[in-house]
Amino acid sequence: MTIAVKNINKRFGEFTALNNVSLDFPTGELTALLGPSGCGKTTLLRCIAGLEHPDSGQVLLDGKDASDRHVRERQVGFVFQHYALFKHMTVFENVAFGLRVKARAERPSEEQIKRKVMDLLGLVQLDWLADRYPPQLSGGQRQRIALARALAVEPRVLLLDEPFGALDAKVRKELRRWLRRLHDELHVTSIFVTHDQEEALEVADQVVLMNKGKVEQLGAPDHVYNHPASPFVYGFLGNVNMFHGRVHEGVITTGDIALDLASHGEVQDSKGIAYVRPHELDVERYTQGAEGIVVKLRRAHAIGPLAQLDLERSDNAEIIEAVIPNERYANLGLKEGETLVVRPRRLHVFVDEGTAI
Ligand code: ATP
Repeated sequence: MTIAVKNINKRFGEFTALNNVSLDFPTGELTALLGPSGCGKTTLLRCIAGLEHPDSGQVLLDGKDASDRHVRERQVGFVFQHYALFKHMTVFENVAFGLRVKARAERPSEEQIKRKVMDLLGLVQLDWLADRYPPQLSGGQRQRIALARALAVEPRVLLLDEPFGALDAKVRKELRRWLRRLHDELHVTSIFVTHDQEEALEVADQVVLMNKGKVEQLGAPDHVYNHPASPFVYGFLGNVNMFHGRVHEGVITTGDIALDLASHGEVQDSKGIAYVRPHELDVERYTQGAEGIVVKLRRAHAIGPLAQLDLERSDNAEIIEAVIPNERYANLGLKEGETLVVRPRRLHVFVDEGTAI
């Protein structure tokens, strides 16, 4: 099924939750709605499901306006963060529920239900738990059962609202890989709400970044990550260093340092901010005449494969964060207080309050 929303607006009293949102959700793909708390992700999902009605604009299912279609007629499956399974029913009965409540004419036979439920439990790799009750399951297992239950009625769209939000970091990580594999098997058009950028970038085919009820950017995860359209997107997708300065003829001057820009359009003497991710900085011991930003090592934190360095600029005392391989950190044999020089491997520069150059 193709899903699109067109010029959707939704207000709650004076508050604008969705501000003229238009989007296409590619068929058979997994789209992540990503953004900070309160940006309208859940409201958009609820409008698509039919649980919320937009003040204006349309939800198009297979190209047709779905405004008059009741939730049940939209053929959507849901999984929510706290999707309570029925506690008094076994796992098997929970998954079978949607099939048993179908209208008589469409209801499968007992034999068909049994086969279908066991197939689904096999798909989420929990067939061995069929006779257990939800309180006897872990949080991760419960969410997988909730997913099997949503899939039982063969939805044409799967809507997932922070399905792993309540789980601890390790289980979350496992489940998102698992969700990706499941999606690759089933190819149900799916929309996944999260405020976790790593989760969105890892799981989705398409990422929609929302801010204050609007779409800031959409695209494939690597495109959005590597070509952020605005400072907001850049900042939201990971840690970032910002160098304030002026851009003129292909150079940004920040403090005592001039950094060459790869592309600079026609910008002449504008205020600009260069954004650099911590892992995009080369770090070396300072030697006389070395080019780059001169810094002092304030603190180093080396755990696992990476070392995080807090560096203080010698020209304006701002702190720069760099992340380098732990092996390199060990080879350099750095000590706190030492003078170093850093050079950005790449810079993203925005001028005049947010135009990318
Ligand atoms: P989160 O990540 O915190 O769940 P979200 O991006 O999903 O956030 P929404 O749940 O869509 O955000 O809410 C968007 C805004 O609309 C919020 O400021 C919220 O308080 C407001 N809002 C949502 N539902 C209602 C409602 N029924 N009545 C009043 N305000 C609401």
